[in-house]
Amino acid sequence: MKQFKAESKKLLDLMINSIYTHKEIFLRELISNASDAIDKLYFRSLTDDAVGLNKDDFEIRIEADKESRILKISDNGIGMTAEELDNNLGVIAKSGSQKFKAENTDENIDIIGQFGVGFYSAFMVSKKVTVVSKAFGSDEANCWESSGASGYTVTPCEKETAGTEITLYISDNTDDVSYDEFLDSYRISALIKKYSNYIRYPIRMEMENTVPDEENEGEYKKVKEIRTLNSMLPLWKKQKNEITVDEYNTFYREVFYDYEAPLRVIHSKTEGNATFNALLFVPSHAPYDYYSKSFEKGLQLYSKGVLISDKCGELLPEHFNFIKGLVDSEDISLNISREMLQHDHQLKLIARTLEKKIKSELKKMLTTDREKYEAFFDAFGTSLKFGVYSDYGMHKDELVDLLIFKSSKEKKYVTLQEYVDAMPSTQKSIYYAAGETIDRIEMLPQVDAVKDKGFEILYLTDYVDEFAVKTIMTFGDKAFINICADEIDIDSEEEKDAIKAENEKNNEMFSFMSEALGGSTEVRYTNKLKNHPVCLTNEGAISAEMEKVLNSMPGNSGVKAEFVLEINISHPVAEKLKVLFESDKDKLTKYAKLLYNQARLIGGLSIEDPTEFSALISELM
Ligand code: ADP
Repeated sequence: MKQFKAESKKLLDLMINSIYTHKEIFLRELISNASDAIDKLYFRSLTDDAVGLNKDDFEIRIEADKESRILKISDNGIGMTAEELDNNLGVIAKSGSQKFKAENTDENIDIIGQFGVGFYSAFMVSKKVTVVSKAFGSDEANCWESSGASGYTVTPCEKETAGTEITLYISDNTDDVSYDEFLDSYRISALIKKYSNYIRYPIRMEMENTVPDEENEGEYKKVKEIRTLNSMLPLWKKQKNEITVDEYNTFYREVFYDYEAPLRVIHSKTEGNATFNALLFVPSHAPYDYYSKSFEKGLQLYSKGVLISDKCGELLPEHFNFIKGLVDSEDISLNISREMLQHDHQLKLIARTLEKKIKSELKKMLTTDREKYEAFFDAFGTSLKFGVYSDYGMHKDELVDLLIFKSSKEKKYVTLQEYVDAMPSTQKSIYYAAGETIDRIEMLPQVDAVKDKGFEILYLTDYVDEFAVKTIMTFGDKAFINICADEIDIDSEEEKDAIKAENEKNNEMFSFMSEALGGSTEVRYTNKLKNHPVCLTNEGAISAEMEKVLNSMPGNSGVKAEFVLEINISHPVAEKLKVLFESDKDKLTKYAKLLYNQARLIGGLSIEDPTEFSALISELM
């Protein structure tokens, strides 16, 4: 009995005692090895007639036998000599593949699995493994056998043709784990579809099928048939002009479990610092768990046609988390470790390229297919806006021209550029109003004044909108201004002077009213209201909408927007206040409270003391 090299023994122990939940990946590893071995012999066959095989002759065979608990994986690839069995399977990640590659630099040969746990993963599901192999060009075959960490043997044996046959004696079930699934042909078939669908050689297995029995009408019989389990040619490796919309859509539905076709397909080949194919989809609707904690962003990651991660989150920035699809790269090594993926330099390079690509495709969609873009934005706009706001606005420049908002003119979406282009020369800023719905916003007392000036208003109805807009700050040289904010500046100089004079005249009355409201809310006249008697104008960085959003978040209660109570100077109530200030201060106090709470209600805010408010109304009635 030979001993494993020290570090191999460690890895083997790890595999045998593995609590790794994706034990199923052993199949992917063994199939990749088989595919590599076939690559080598196929490559040889191009220059050496002695190989005697055509491309179509190469195959990987799977046999599963539930009774004897045996799973066999065979290939007619290059095979291994006794020495190779000893060298390759006695040590961890010796990477014969890599060596082979180095020796054949001229030829373009694709070999997956330059390192990784590879072959040893078989021990995650087996109590014993034998490898019968005959190297191409050799007369003798050998059998490598091991039951785990105790060591292995290599002994001569019989095998007719070149290639390798790996026999796994599948482990007995334990209380916690059932290994039976690895003997079930349907399960195996599903695993191959999942991980190895795009291996270039056919993966075949004998499967039982139920068919109508011709001899006995109405009866069925079981027949055995050989099936090819993988589809071999990756869709993304085909030329774009050879792929129909239907093919893309079917692929998307099947692989990403969506019942609807995607809104857009992004299929690209990139060469250079990072070489990869990407096939990405913009879904037409958010998945059911999109807004829940369980949602995980990510793309499938393939290394030369072999799936190495079902969801590689590192490939997508948070603001494009809705993108589905896959990346197939030659530069990523076949490896099961997620931590390794996180630090992979190549992966970062790919992610950066993808981000640019997605951005430019969305931009294209916005300019050439507006209807679709709006549907997209309805589904995923929040994510873009959140992207603007998050990371201290780091991505805002990249995302700002992808944003659209509904506006007062036609209640249709406009881009910020469209908004600015349509501004009259007298308009200095970009005006917006925030509220739960467009209808609610239109009820804001401040809306009419801005509209009357001929200015368009952006209606922000998404909870994240105002935070995003505040992060953007300016578009071109135009600042964003909330029409309910103190800083709004739409009046002419004369109008401003007139109201200022009136406010100064009534200074004492306003101080009195302000005191009545507790001292922290200023009171003044305004000429910007049409029919409403009052409104609340926002002072400072936090608006009424933001107050609501912030206070709805856990651990964030007590945030307060600061307001000025503005009273419509042309409303009868304006005069009434003056009269009360002279004749009945007690009543003016009550009026102040009523008007303030009225303004809160109109502004979509709740009343701080409903009992007092209700009592005041009854009293005045
Ligand atoms: P890796 O494939 O990453 O090099 P493995 O542990 O999976 O690591 O395999 C070690 C080596 O054993 C391979 O590099 C290859 O040379 C050899 N090998 C494994 N499986 C086969 C096979 N089916 N046919 C021929 N050689 C094989």
